[in-house]
Amino acid sequence: MTSRKRKKLVYAETDGKVYLVKDGKKLRFPVDGEKIPFKVEKLATMRLSEADVEMVRPLLDRHPDEWLWRDDALERDDVDSVVKNAIYMTMMRCVSEVAAVEGDKVLMVKAKRGFSMGYWNLPGGFMQYGELPEVACAREFKEETGADVAVEDTIGVYVSTFPEKPAYTLGFIYRGRVLSRDFHPKEDEIEKVDWQLFDHGLELTRNPFAKWGIVDLYRHLPEKQANIKVHRHGLLKSRGSSGGKGPVVFLDRDGVINKGVPGYLKTWREFEFLPGAIDAMKSLCDGGFRLAIVTNQDVMGWKILSHEGLRKIHENMLKELTKNGVRIEEIYYCPHNLMSQCRCHKPQPAMLLAAARDLDVSPRRAWMVGDKVSDVVVGKHFGCWTIWIADAKRARKYEADARRARPDFTFEDLAGAAKVIRKTDMSKLIYRAKEL
Ligand SMILES: [Mg+2]
Repeated sequence: MTSRKRKKLVYAETDGKVYLVKDGKKLRFPVDGEKIPFKVEKLATMRLSEADVEMVRPLLDRHPDEWLWRDDALERDDVDSVVKNAIYMTMMRCVSEVAAVEGDKVLMVKAKRGFSMGYWNLPGGFMQYGELPEVACAREFKEETGADVAVEDTIGVYVSTFPEKPAYTLGFIYRGRVLSRDFHPKEDEIEKVDWQLFDHGLELTRNPFAKWGIVDLYRHLPEKQANIKVHRHGLLKSRGSSGGKGPVVFLDRDGVINKGVPGYLKTWREFEFLPGAIDAMKSLCDGGFRLAIVTNQDVMGWKILSHEGLRKIHENMLKELTKNGVRIEEIYYCPHNLMSQCRCHKPQPAMLLAAARDLDVSPRRAWMVGDKVSDVVVGKHFGCWTIWIADAKRARKYEADARRARPDFTFEDLAGAAKVIRKTDMSKLIYRAKEL
């Protein structure tokens, strides 16, 4: 392996014009550290095979007429090939997909090849040159399923990276209605076509657009279609509304907020707040974040603790939190054990999906924080940002599982997690998009 340092270049662009320096007969990007006659704000790093390209926003007090049009750069012989490659990579790839809904299910296809091989997806694909997104998804739907779809309203337009690719993809997701139920999956591309429950669909796909589309669809469905049953403490119902529209941090309870006891926590007397947890929650509330607790209570599934018993613990916990200026929007709990066939036990995403609807929040503005790798997995299924709470010992013990789950961050405690959540500029999060 070579230890040669990678070349680092600076890409400044504004209004379709790029800043290049003349080097002999060639026009090239400035090298990192080379003097540039204006200030810049760093945006992101684009990793190309030839170099790392630092994308920056130039801070100018005038329009730079003398800079080169980015489109012209692609056609000129005197422009360095890295510049051309980088400009090409800044162009959004466009895909369009359709979520055809019937009752409480969405139509999905299982891919035989490509990025999604072995995974399910919403029917759709790359838009062709000059094609409208609503036309592209209907064409792809027909190609993949053999059936016709009536494309209805837009569910959302999203941006994401895909693994190992420096380019970004723009994804249009439409709601649709299937016009015929006679499916003929495309032989070389699609293994199966089937209706999936919304929450199950989130587990089946690893396409961020499909996840976000399904969640955003679910948020706005009529009551009778959005019928996933989860258990709530009832805070939202008693208050009548959520505290604003801020981003949401979903917190696992045991091992994040409270210390936990060997076996199962059964009484308020056994409940002990972890050091710094209340302050961390307070700092998130002060920063405009809404908090919701999402907890598996296997203890109830084993009939060791009743709903009433859990309620008592949570009433006491809430009293303590309120006293300290912490507001919890809602507590979601799964009262089943891991052997049960329920839909709500984490890492299944039903509780998060229901919460997204209750709290009217998109996964792109939400975090899941938990001490089990399955908490990271549920966050990934849902499509939000994930933080794994693990000290060195725990991190070592579950290293292999965590590597597979790929949390966005790992911290020893909630204090560390709260700090990074607070300082992360949500508007710039897109630059950190990772595989879900
Ligand atoms: Mg836990």
